[in-house]
Amino acid sequence: MVKMEDLEKKLFDQSWTFENREKIIQKMQSSQYDVVIIGAGMTGAGIAREAAMRNLSVAVVDMQDFAAGTSSRSTKMAHGGIRYIAYGETALVKSATRERNWMRVQIPHLVRPLPFFLPIIEGSKLKKRDIVGVTKIYDFLSDEKSEFKNFKKSKYYTTEEVYELEPEFNRQGLQGGIVYYDTNIDDARLTIEILKEAIIRGADSINYCKAFDYIKNNGKIAGIKCQDLENKVDFEIHATLVINATGIWTDDLIKSYPDNVPNPLIRPTMGVHLLFRRENIGNTMANGLYSGVDNRFFFVIPRNKKYTLVGTTDTDYQGDLANPFCDKEDADYLIKSVKLYYPNAKLEYENILSTYAGIRPLVMQKGKPETEVSRNHIILFSNDNLLTITGGKLTEWREMAEDLFEHIEEKKIFPEIKKEKYWSRQPFIISLEKDEWLDILQNSGIHLEEDISDHLYQQYGKGAIHIINLIKKDESLKERIIDENDFIYAEILYVLRYEMSPHLIDVFCRRTEMSLWIHHRRAFEAAENVAKIMQKEYSWDNETKNEEIQRYMDYVKNCVSFIL
Ligand SMILES: Cc1cc2nc3c(=O)[nH]c(=O)nc-3n(C[C@H](O)[C@H](O)[C@H](O)COP(=O)(O)OP(=O)(O)OC[C@H]3O[C@@H](n4cnc5c(N)ncnc54)[C@H](O)[C@@H]3O)c2cc1C
Repeated sequence: MVKMEDLEKKLFDQSWTFENREKIIQKMQSSQYDVVIIGAGMTGAGIAREAAMRNLSVAVVDMQDFAAGTSSRSTKMAHGGIRYIAYGETALVKSATRERNWMRVQIPHLVRPLPFFLPIIEGSKLKKRDIVGVTKIYDFLSDEKSEFKNFKKSKYYTTEEVYELEPEFNRQGLQGGIVYYDTNIDDARLTIEILKEAIIRGADSINYCKAFDYIKNNGKIAGIKCQDLENKVDFEIHATLVINATGIWTDDLIKSYPDNVPNPLIRPTMGVHLLFRRENIGNTMANGLYSGVDNRFFFVIPRNKKYTLVGTTDTDYQGDLANPFCDKEDADYLIKSVKLYYPNAKLEYENILSTYAGIRPLVMQKGKPETEVSRNHIILFSNDNLLTITGGKLTEWREMAEDLFEHIEEKKIFPEIKKEKYWSRQPFIISLEKDEWLDILQNSGIHLEEDISDHLYQQYGKGAIHIINLIKKDESLKERIIDENDFIYAEILYVLRYEMSPHLIDVFCRRTEMSLWIHHRRAFEAAENVAKIMQKEYSWDNETKNEEIQRYMDYVKNCVSFIL
């Protein structure tokens, strides 16, 4: 058994960086791995962690940045999916809530409890007894008799109490409400941290590397042919087992479908989100609401002290899978939906900080509307030996990986990897308790404003200690990148020096939440400030720097094209 201290050292040994990318590729080319995983979203990262913890040698590639697919574009909740109770999916809700509880206990800085308010409204589709019943079932399903318990049980509040709890909420027809608990996360950061858990146990992983074909041995898949998209160089990775964890791209990688498996397997549906300053909506809790436009369920979710995320939609999607964007119709739908419940909200286009869109990897179920398609995952071995896993929810990444390994155990591909259920519910090396962080910060002699301190803690856990060390060497690194947000220069250096972050857009969209919370009108100023640091760290010439800024600004413009 590897000691925690040794793993912790590896977390900060600076080998998983853009500068070491070439070395990692060389190793990938010259190794025979047990497992190669295509796709480094939450699903691929979770499998890499599970495989590395079972002492298998692992390589992971992603054709974009890590988490650039759906895993940075979700509603950013680790949750059980309370609304699936209505569709009878209690097994899914039970396992998801229990995984949520485990993460909240073991990764407390990143998986944070949040109260969710469900209003009881006269004449509404859901009556008081329905809401009370559903929340009680939700509590019951997730209440494990283990160390990973519910944060708190749900509770009913009278109309007067709700006036106090959610003062800006529309009072017309309001007849009280229920508050239950789920959690919010940064989906992309969680993906990166899960991947790091694999890397410190020996896995090799690179981004911007596309698998385009398979190496075959007697008709069976024995590795992948891929291209390093940074240098346009093809190379091969040999492995006993190839796992396809490519989410919405799953069908591109399957060459032979087992009988009874729908072809195509994935039904992509799109969901968009809008981001506002909290003061522009006025919510204090997360709210689960039915849209007055079409009766679809959506959320209004606080993030940090200052922001609110609104979403999502759920519509069939046929466009470019890598580049979905919110359009005017989506934005107007969400604005109208929120306005019904927060009549004084200031939801003019100019108050939209940013938007993003994501595509769900839903597994085909004929004859069901988008919102009712199951969120369960599916695992299949094709005749040529490709193991595919897709569907599910990001909350269930560990459970999905465990399930996959049960299939691998059954096939007896690797000896001695069997583990009992829930074995991989182990602590994360990066995790840090808030009190510990506050002590460390106090003893460091560095003074940070409370909002910045909170932001660093919840985003980076133990990584925040390294950010403090950077500030000790150069106090100017504690300056804000943009005066109205809490992102600071030191955290940029941290993600460049401890994580493989080749491009400016990776730093804005996946390593930090800057793309969400910096107002799109100030994105260029922020991009220029961050690009200066990257230019110095990566020795970019001016042309590269300008191209990087342009690429990020093109993304920003597409996100808010209906405003500009
Ligand atoms: C709008 C929306 C809201 C959601 N909200 C939640 C939520 O709040 N909570 C929750 O639990 N779940 C939520 N989900 C579901 C969750 O986000 C997804 O289930 C999860 O992110 C899927 O992860 P994945 O790793 O399977 O796919 P992805 O994250 O898409 O990863 C697949 C990766 O494969 C890579 N890839 C594809 N082809 C290749 C190739 N040929 N070579 C190399 N790499 C390749 C892609 O670049 C991509 O990074 C939401 C989904 C959406 C769309």
